[in-house]
Amino acid sequence: GEADDSGSGETVEVKVPDIGDFDSVEVIEVLVAEGDSVEKEQALITLESDKATLEVPSTAAGTISELKVKEGSTVSEGDLIALVASSGGSKQTQSESKSGGNKPASGDSAKASSGSGSKSEPKATTSASDDHNYDCDVLVLGSGPGGYTAAFRAADMGLNVTLVERHSVLGGVCLNVGCIPSKALLHSAKVIEDAANMASHGVTFGKPEIDLAKLLDYKQSVIDQLTGGLKSMASKRKVNVVNGTGTFADDHTLKIDGNDDVSQLTFNKAIIAVGSEPVMLPGWPEDERIWTSEDALSPDEIPGSLLVVGGGIIGCEIANVYAAHGTEVDIVEMTDSLIPGADKDLIKPLTKRMNKRCGNIWVSTKVTGLEAGDKLTASFEGKDAPESKDYDRVLVAVGRKPNGKKIGAENAGLEVNDRGFIPVDKQCRTNVDHIFAIGDVSGEPQLAHRATHQGKVAAECCAGEKSAFDAKVIPSVVYTDPEVAWTGVTETQAKKEGIEYTKGAFPWAANGRAIGLDATDGNTKLLFGKDGRIIGAGAVGSGAGDLIAETCLAIEMGADAHDIGLTIHPHPTLAETVGMAAEAEAGTLTDLYIPKKK
Ligand code: FAD
Repeated sequence: GEADDSGSGETVEVKVPDIGDFDSVEVIEVLVAEGDSVEKEQALITLESDKATLEVPSTAAGTISELKVKEGSTVSEGDLIALVASSGGSKQTQSESKSGGNKPASGDSAKASSGSGSKSEPKATTSASDDHNYDCDVLVLGSGPGGYTAAFRAADMGLNVTLVERHSVLGGVCLNVGCIPSKALLHSAKVIEDAANMASHGVTFGKPEIDLAKLLDYKQSVIDQLTGGLKSMASKRKVNVVNGTGTFADDHTLKIDGNDDVSQLTFNKAIIAVGSEPVMLPGWPEDERIWTSEDALSPDEIPGSLLVVGGGIIGCEIANVYAAHGTEVDIVEMTDSLIPGADKDLIKPLTKRMNKRCGNIWVSTKVTGLEAGDKLTASFEGKDAPESKDYDRVLVAVGRKPNGKKIGAENAGLEVNDRGFIPVDKQCRTNVDHIFAIGDVSGEPQLAHRATHQGKVAAECCAGEKSAFDAKVIPSVVYTDPEVAWTGVTETQAKKEGIEYTKGAFPWAANGRAIGLDATDGNTKLLFGKDGRIIGAGAVGSGAGDLIAETCLAIEMGADAHDIGLTIHPHPTLAETVGMAAEAEAGTLTDLYIPKKK
């Protein structure tokens, strides 16, 4: 640090420095109080003229013995601001580089220099070395949406980051074998069905001819575009990408298998983002015709028949893809409806359409066994299902298991629960203070947008920020046709937990755009809590996943029915159904006739 120019043990007068051509500038904020100890260069007050905002720093380290200004005072160059009883030495701190100095800054630099997400990024408060000489400040294990986001955010905050990934491409499950390829194939499924439905509008297309190789090439090109983008962004950010499988050797060392150049790496902090893998059913034969979702997204052929075991989000999406491309699909689900967890009224239109496109949907039914012969023979237990039936392929979509038990967590002293999740706190911190866990391995819901949000939180915490995962809601979307989406409190949950609510709903049958799109089976509903603020929302229909985003913002902002209803929504859009559901709650809806309650 620089030498202290105040001398030791003296009282130093801090005055308004040369602030350019300004006279009588207002003090808009006093950042310290009498008795506070301050560092040299620590900002004491914020001044605002009509042209600029600037902070005036202390010229000495010590204790504020007297403050000569207060909020609202006006000052000019040379005016006394404070007396500082100097402590002698000046500790150079990180905040020095952040303070605005004594030059007029443009805009609201005082505000911009505090808090995360600001324009001027806070600089990292840790360095690769702290006391040791680690290979990197932050090691990120796994490059899915959680991992790459964490790595990029940490690098953007000035940390030296190494990203370890066992596959040769970045992007994890989401980009390579999950969210992205499934949606690329669902798009062609939707076009095929929409084209067939156009016959009733007077437009007839021929029977679709499917070139599977080309369809899969297209899917791969979508993936390549995104994973290529990640690679280039990692290199631009100088994130060191290491290809290999990592396991912890101790709490500051990762052992790496499968890389000829790097066999181990040491780290100051680590972020675990190793994701999850599909659950297979115990006791089933090993057979290539028994698919995971990954196999189903890269098929060798379009099978004649497919049994989908598990009617959750992944099961329904893949059933939709295959049924549209000509496969005879049956779905078997253990609970009493498709998409367990979602409200039944939202699932109804989907079930109706799935019933049309699939052979059978058996709910409250179990698969009791599977035999592999010429065909795959599944046996069932349930009221409507046959005793057994033959299939060309069977997809197991009964959930995903976190990878927490596969990374030598015990060597780092990390807690991993029975199911393989690594428990974390609001900062995504594990039981080991300098190790974080995010994404599918850290808990539920196992969704990409939760992983990315956590990735930012963990990276910011590594850089010394006080970030926390405090999102009120995490939306869920089923990308079938129709889409089903919900966020916050569901009606099922409200009833179960005794949460008081009122509901505003708008049926798409009364929405002009939905009628034109032949999507009148849709519905949008909003739930409001006792204080009138929105607490949950659900929608079913074309593009419901996009509609739900507005309601997530409304919940985060604490909006009530008037806030949403008085927001002008573009016409004619499906998004209007959100505004109108709010109007239904507020009692101002004119697009439906709702008789007054007597
Ligand atoms: P992952 O994406 O699982 O990435 C983990 C990475 O870590 C992988 O690249 C893996 O190779 C690597 N790794 C693991 N162990 C090691 C190790 N020891 N050393 C080095 N590298 C390692 N979510 C949504 O939000 N929307 C959707 O529409 C959606 N659709 C889906 C469709 C399907 C078919 C599937 C299977 C999932 C879908 N998901 C969807 C879920 C989503 O893919 C996951 O929630 C998300 O990928 C989790 O991100 P993550 O960063 O936690 O881990």
